[in-house]
Amino acid sequence: MPVDLELITETAKALYLRALRLLPPDVKAALARAHARERQPRAREILGTMLANLDVAETRGLLVCQDTGTPVFRVRVGRGFPIDALGGHEIAQALAQGVRRATAEHPLRSSICHPLSRANPQTNTGWRIPVVDWTFGPDGDALELAMMPKGSGSENMSFLRMLPPAAGVAGIKRFVLDCVLEAGGKPCPPTIVGVGIGGTADLCMKLAKEAIWRPVGEPHPDPELARLEADLLEAINMTGFGPMGLGGDTTALAVMVEAAYTHITQNPVAVTLQCWRGERAAARIHADGRVEHGY
Ligand code: SF4
Repeated sequence: MPVDLELITETAKALYLRALRLLPPDVKAALARAHARERQPRAREILGTMLANLDVAETRGLLVCQDTGTPVFRVRVGRGFPIDALGGHEIAQALAQGVRRATAEHPLRSSICHPLSRANPQTNTGWRIPVVDWTFGPDGDALELAMMPKGSGSENMSFLRMLPPAAGVAGIKRFVLDCVLEAGGKPCPPTIVGVGIGGTADLCMKLAKEAIWRPVGEPHPDPELARLEADLLEAINMTGFGPMGLGGDTTALAVMVEAAYTHITQNPVAVTLQCWRGERAAARIHADGRVEHGY
């Protein structure tokens, strides 16, 4: 049966629920590695509790954390996907409907409210929420959906600085470390640290956000950026904040950088933190209605 909007809604619902219940294998493996090498007894115990929490959530169909987050979708439209027949606006509405359905049927806590009145429609949706980020690919017949319920404790720890070019790479490193020091235990460490470098202010933050979608443990293909990631990870873990900020060797599971060229008078840096639960889920919906699930 060819793809239709109902299939997109049901897939969006399934992705939201799966992302809240199951961690991607790369994040689980990173937590297990951190647990195995942690030297501080209390930090080891906290990491062990996190791993046990994952098992309970998985076996009993519970949420890993009470925060249902801000629903974020990345959508990549393949050239052969029938977007004209379905309509881009209608697909965005189908994604929001999937979020509302998951919220009503699970049921989930609604974490989304009006920015001024703070009125909560109890749907986890509202103006411009879910966040939907579109890209259009040159090939393929699929609509690729990736979903992240971005936790608030970590999202509140987002930073942007327009550094002067003279600050150089040293300035970039100092800013990232300052952000991690300011965040302390608030983003529920060990975190996945997303860093955006270059572009304009908005693109720079988008790059930091893009970085945290990459599987943990996968270095940037550019060797210079990969070296920067490794240097920053080592420095961040030397702070000793540790799991949940209570001391230990593992303050971050990974640092991931994305970069763009920038203006000769600018040196923008953005930092976004993803909490230990690092939740995300993905699916590929083909034009013929087949759905493949992954991360
Ligand atoms: S920051 Fe993450 S782990 Fe902490 S409360 Fe929010 S969603 Fe949960």
